[in-house]
Amino acid sequence: MKAVLIICDGMADRPVPALGNLTPLEAAEKPTMDLIAREGICGLMYALDPGIPPGSDTAHLALLGYDPYQVYTGRGPFEAAGAGLELRPGDVAFRANYATLDKGGLIIDRRAGRVPPTQRIEDAVRKIKLPVKFLFKNTVGHRAAFVLRGRGLSAAVSDTDPHETGKPVQPCKPLNQTAAARKTAKIVNMFTQKVRKTLANHPENLERASKGIPPANILLLRGAGVVPYLEPIQQKYGISGACVAAAALVKGVCKLAGMEVIEVEGATGNVRTNLKGKIFATIDALQRHDLVLLHIKAFDELSHDRKAQEKKNFIEQVDKHLAELLDKADFLVLAIDHTTPIELGEHSGDAVPVAICGPGVRKDDIQRFDERSCAKGGLGVIRGRDLLPLLLNLMGKLKKFGA
Ligand code: ZN
Ligand code: ZN
Repeated sequence: MKAVLIICDGMADRPVPALGNLTPLEAAEKPTMDLIAREGICGLMYALDPGIPPGSDTAHLALLGYDPYQVYTGRGPFEAAGAGLELRPGDVAFRANYATLDKGGLIIDRRAGRVPPTQRIEDAVRKIKLPVKFLFKNTVGHRAAFVLRGRGLSAAVSDTDPHETGKPVQPCKPLNQTAAARKTAKIVNMFTQKVRKTLANHPENLERASKGIPPANILLLRGAGVVPYLEPIQQKYGISGACVAAAALVKGVCKLAGMEVIEVEGATGNVRTNLKGKIFATIDALQRHDLVLLHIKAFDELSHDRKAQEKKNFIEQVDKHLAELLDKADFLVLAIDHTTPIELGEHSGDAVPVAICGPGVRKDDIQRFDERSCAKGGLGVIRGRDLLPLLLNLMGKLKKFGA
């Protein structure tokens, strides 16, 4: 028995005036999604708890059966894992941005002109000496991941990113009175100073300056978190899994859950992503795995940018590609990690529609995959962490509890 868990990031919405008070899902022509709903059992789902707006990271943890309230301390670890760093439980991971400082030490560009620094800069940062081990990697664009490894470290430290220009890099402060937080803050401040020294006159930065590109001469850190131990899904459920995604956060959650993370060329996480390639990679991964998580990101981005028509169009575009999956797996699960209402431009705590189709499913009479149709479905209202057990029960992968 094989299953594909399709997660459409932020696809659920509230009624949109520009769409005649329909949601984008209600307004879109999407025969494949409707077929999954018609052939399956439908319902509503709160990724976390009712009314709590989920992040993509906490929602995906829940959808894979973990308790985000137990394991989540910040987004840093998931982004770093998604960027391909080999993390260990207990590591303290940060998101990093290359930025531009002027001669007086004020930040004049928080993204260093959005021109990614090369490997040479990354190598220079890696050569810095600190009292503990650290990992560092450039990720996408002006972004990077920074990870501290050693005893007595803590994620209870403040950001060095002031989140606005015209200010100096903020000193990292301990957020509690523990020796671990004080030690970590001290090491982060030492790192910041050494980065500044190392990159100030780095040849690549001199080159950038001569071309009018803002030099990448400092790193701003934020989102510290401790890498949690997630019991691998093989162990937890006895299934092997793979993930096809572009978003680093989602890749990171899946990687820490012990899943194979498949890289697809041209998978960008935006509307121009390589959908065909992602579907192909999903079908290919089904040969080797019981469960393949296919994540599609751009719905969420379009909601943040409040683009109603574009969101509807993207739903229609994705729907055409999903048709390829219809006869490739025993089970198809169509899910959403959270609602991102166009009117808010942010995640909300509204429930999302969900549908499971495959052998043995107690089909209900829902005909369409959308927020209001699925509210009447046979699954009722579930939480994110219930979804995988419900699927695994249908796949015959769960053991009886009791005699
Ligand atoms: Zn999301
Ligand atoms: Zn979002």
